[in-house]
Amino acid sequence: MEQTLVLLKPSCIQRCLVGQVITRIQQRGIIISALKMMQLDEKILREHYAHLVDKPFFPSLAASMMASPVIAMVLSGVDIVEVFRKMTGVTNGRKAEPGTLRGDFCMSGQANIIHASDSVENAKIEIARFFRPEEIFDYAPATLQFLYGDGEA
Ligand code: UDP
Ligand code: MG
Repeated sequence: MEQTLVLLKPSCIQRCLVGQVITRIQQRGIIISALKMMQLDEKILREHYAHLVDKPFFPSLAASMMASPVIAMVLSGVDIVEVFRKMTGVTNGRKAEPGTLRGDFCMSGQANIIHASDSVENAKIEIARFFRPEEIFDYAPATLQFLYGDGEA
């Protein structure tokens, strides 16, 4: 099954939104394959946001991502990268559609509560950046036969 890398940012942790975000993930029928709390540092953020290191806002972005621990997750599902980007909503929370996580839970273009991989290729790279293989669990949820139709998953 396809996998994606998700980070619950310090803005999610500090605003006590972790439970609500995880509830949305689980009620959609998305499988949590890995989950841990970690403190990010400049080195991993320079890799993770390599496409943004030259932007004027990178120092404040890095500071915002180091302001507290984050929760990193690997989520699994059919077409999960695309499904979860749609659930996340566009980058700026003020422009994100209601019903998306950003559109329902934030008002910021930076403190936008969550990161989600933007392509299958990047998801593989990001999962390897944040998790060792033994931290990712390949188990079948008891509900699996009711999450998908025959032959879908
Ligand atoms: N960001 C920011 N200012 C900007 C654009 C992005 O602070 O003008 C931050 C924001 O937290 C965003 C992250 O940088 O989530 C990564 O940017 P990207 O364009 O990859 O957006 P995302 O994939 O998170 O929607
Ligand atoms: Mg991105």
